[in-house]
Amino acid sequence: MMQSQKNSTESDDDQRDAAVTEAVLEGFPSAIGELGGLVRIPSVSWSAFDPHHVAASADAVAGLLRDLDVFETVSISRAPIGDGDELGHPAVLAARPARNGRQTVLLYAHHDVQPPGKDDDWDSAPYEPTVRGDRLYGRGAADDKAGVMAHVAAIRAFAATRGADFDLGLAVFIEGEEEFGSRSFANFLEQNRATLAADVIVVADSDNWDVNTPALTVSLRGNVTFRLTVRTLAHASHSGMFGGAVPDAMLATVRLLSTLHSDDGSVAVDGLLASDGDTPEYTDETLRTDAALLDGVQSIGSGSILGRLWTKPSITVTGIDAPSVANASNTLSPSVSVRISARIAPGQSASDAFRAIETHLRANAPFGARIEIDEVDTGDPFLVDTSGPAVADAKKAMADAWGVEPVETGIGGSIPFIADLVRVFPRAQILVTGVEDPDTRAHSPNESLHLGVFKRAILTEALLLSRLDGRTPPSKV
Ligand SMILES: [Zn+2]
Repeated sequence: MMQSQKNSTESDDDQRDAAVTEAVLEGFPSAIGELGGLVRIPSVSWSAFDPHHVAASADAVAGLLRDLDVFETVSISRAPIGDGDELGHPAVLAARPARNGRQTVLLYAHHDVQPPGKDDDWDSAPYEPTVRGDRLYGRGAADDKAGVMAHVAAIRAFAATRGADFDLGLAVFIEGEEEFGSRSFANFLEQNRATLAADVIVVADSDNWDVNTPALTVSLRGNVTFRLTVRTLAHASHSGMFGGAVPDAMLATVRLLSTLHSDDGSVAVDGLLASDGDTPEYTDETLRTDAALLDGVQSIGSGSILGRLWTKPSITVTGIDAPSVANASNTLSPSVSVRISARIAPGQSASDAFRAIETHLRANAPFGARIEIDEVDTGDPFLVDTSGPAVADAKKAMADAWGVEPVETGIGGSIPFIADLVRVFPRAQILVTGVEDPDTRAHSPNESLHLGVFKRAILTEALLLSRLDGRTPPSKV
């Protein structure tokens, strides 16, 4: 009796999975077409670009969500930035409440994109979606309009197998300014707290291990950026008159910056934490190829390579304001400013990390140089609690959709708004998934999406929704 019941449940599950798979495959060509439509809208969220395009892309996304016919509400809204009156770019929010005590899933992606850079660097125009081989090229084709479309296509396939009558609660939040610092994100969360509240949050804005192997991102580094200004003189002077007896700001800056790293290139700042976890195999040769290291140039840091990228801090000087080479005269510079960008290891708060770096810079200023620090921006690192049932569900869905077990990965980059999600919804299980692969080149010319990855990402999410639909929330069990 027990045995036959179990068998019938198993075959029900199999049938549902088969129906979902069929619906995903059937809807896949239109998902590519709709993605192309989104890529054609140049929705760059940076302040120097026309905000009408971001508004147009919000409209297009809202249209796609409305057409799914499963939401009670679909709205476009803008939340204020910080405490001011200025509003952020429009976000799209769609929702239907859970029924019969089921879970609610929140699906996140963003519809804005990075600037395209120079058209000449692209093999096809950035806003003209173009298929070459098994990849779709275009700005936002992967980051993150494919994330938007993965949600739309997964919901469409899931709903096609259930009718409009399913019990799963669903909210979709498509942000409009992720690439410009998610300035209104925290206020948007506060304003829409009730609608966004969920048991499981899927953030589809990350990477896969390769085009054949799915990944669940379980750790993200945080970030700290600021401007450092070093001053030594009240005004510039002739380098022939005083050079050799007074320190110019460039000398002080170069010497100060050199204290941030030890000889092997590891970060040498007391109080910046690192952790040591197991990481998948990744060779020095792969690093050389992936990062385009020149022959003879060595990698920096110590320990496993992925450990250096995922669980250790890094400090980079990303900009410098000083006389240009063309305009260089025989002058002692009175002041130099640099932009410093640091990545923070999971396990340390970004504000603690900033204090450690600031203390180091003040303690190591050479020749009594004056140090000023401003324009500080911080984002906390993030570690997923992998013990939650949704993590197991997501990994199972990945294994089934891809036919390969997923890898748990870290990301050397940061998604600072995840810390906001954790703060506002501390009980939610957060799943960081994605549609990218190592050849995607997000943010760069010739950004592209692997269409096989796209299909498997949609199927993963459709299977996950279908299975979560049958569950009551863990807290109510
Ligand atoms: Zn993104």
